[in-house]
Amino acid sequence: MIINRNPAKNSEIVSQHEISTTAELDKMLAKSTEAFKSWKLVPAPKRAEYLLKAANIYRARKKELSETLHRENGKPIEEAEGEIQEVIDTFEFFAGEGRRIYGMTGQSEMPGKSIITVREPIGPAVFITAWNFPAAVPSWKAAPCLVSGNTFILKPSELAPLSGKILVDILNETGLPEGVAQVAMGAGDVGSYLIKSPASKIVSVTGSTETGREVATIAAANFKKCALELGGKNAAIVLADADLELVTEGLVWGAYGTAGQRCTSTSRLIIDSKVSKAVVDGLKSKISKLGTSRSYTPIISYKQLVKIDALVKEAIAEGAELICGGEILKHGDRGANPLIEAKSTDEKLAGSNDGYYYAPTILKIKPEMKIARTEVFGPVLSVIEIDAKNFQSKENSKTPHNEAEAILKEALRIANSTDYGLSSSIYTRDINLAMQSASAFESGLVYINAPTIGAECGGASLFGGWKNTGNGSREGGITALDTYTQYKTIAIDYSGRLQRAQID
Ligand code: NAD
Repeated sequence: MIINRNPAKNSEIVSQHEISTTAELDKMLAKSTEAFKSWKLVPAPKRAEYLLKAANIYRARKKELSETLHRENGKPIEEAEGEIQEVIDTFEFFAGEGRRIYGMTGQSEMPGKSIITVREPIGPAVFITAWNFPAAVPSWKAAPCLVSGNTFILKPSELAPLSGKILVDILNETGLPEGVAQVAMGAGDVGSYLIKSPASKIVSVTGSTETGREVATIAAANFKKCALELGGKNAAIVLADADLELVTEGLVWGAYGTAGQRCTSTSRLIIDSKVSKAVVDGLKSKISKLGTSRSYTPIISYKQLVKIDALVKEAIAEGAELICGGEILKHGDRGANPLIEAKSTDEKLAGSNDGYYYAPTILKIKPEMKIARTEVFGPVLSVIEIDAKNFQSKENSKTPHNEAEAILKEALRIANSTDYGLSSSIYTRDINLAMQSASAFESGLVYINAPTIGAECGGASLFGGWKNTGNGSREGGITALDTYTQYKTIAIDYSGRLQRAQID
């Protein structure tokens, strides 16, 4: 049994779910295969109508669904409402694709012949999702999957399964044929079972890089289409000419929004030492009361709370300077009692009234420390200062601009020196340096004078990462269709005679 507890108030059980048995999973896979046979024949504009209906249901129930998401995931109600809005936007955007799903037409080298390429669905998909966006991420997968003509089984995170189940329920409420959208409950082993089955043809995973590697290995052995949206270690670079008020505001949101539990959260600040004190002092004052405010997000589980604390302690032992935070918020601070037990799938682990809160933390670190490369997934910002003195040559100290260029070069080297490549940001008023950074960042997302978080859904806004953050797939935007379609090229020879390509 999955006991889904409120991470802000551990005694509150939000929902309970039976773990799917292998017999049930086999049944779901069979249903998904059967439903695909007819669903793929429904014209795409008709398939899109179900997405529009689902968007309308979400809109009508927005308040209540946001409240549920807030309770199971812990994020503040305003952020929960934003996530439900993202579901609505995603369904509406991909409903529009029902009237497009463009292919190609090309020129033949022979007379009386045409060549067209169309996109076709692939088959049953399996979605494995993380807990931090329990509604939006399933919608990023479900919408392009369905409009393309595939069926799916969602295996939501065992730490926040309810919003995903509701998404499937709402899709079914629109009148989708049976077996097109299903949900399976359980932990990684349930996901793994679905992926290993020959019946599943597409796998889309949002989770840690370790999980992605395991899933990708299974998918590769079976030649399954596999989309991976994985971890991040995102950096914001701040140059001396930046608007420092904008920087501190952006860092409060980027590093401490959702308590740093976004794949795109800002976890490194790489900053010109000339403005470091002003930014760190400004940030420290802005976050001093955040930990006990109503807009602060709890950590999803006790296990994760302890992991964050251990990473911070390890960094301090390695020589990092603790500027503020660095502790589990104590009982009575609206925070957690470290003795309470984990949010768990084990019914025996009863909870207390407390939530799991970690104090907003700033560390000053060196780029070679372990925490500079490890994803923390918590409210911890590591500051790396760059002192111009260490990079001065005759050439680059001629003008302030030359100096800023030298600092930027080093900042970019550090920013790119992790295995991840999801989101980066640069704060400067110098358009040339901003654009040089945009070109040099090794990440799928780049923000100029904005925090590393806050992706939008839509045509040109593609979400996904480079390096160990993914395998090239994108969500949220138009190219999400690439995961759920395969190409078919159709050559039509109406010349009435045999024409041999490259010979006649
Ligand atoms: P996780 O990898 O522990 O779990 C994610 C999902 O994978 C869960 O549903 C889990 O049950 C399942 N799973 C675990 N092992 C599996 C296996 N061997 N086979 C199949 N399924 C398995 O991640 P999490 O703690 O839930 O989420 C946090 C991680 O997700 C962070 O690394 C974060 O950066 C990443 N994330 C990435 C994105 C993105 O779009 N790039 C978005 C949100 C979260």
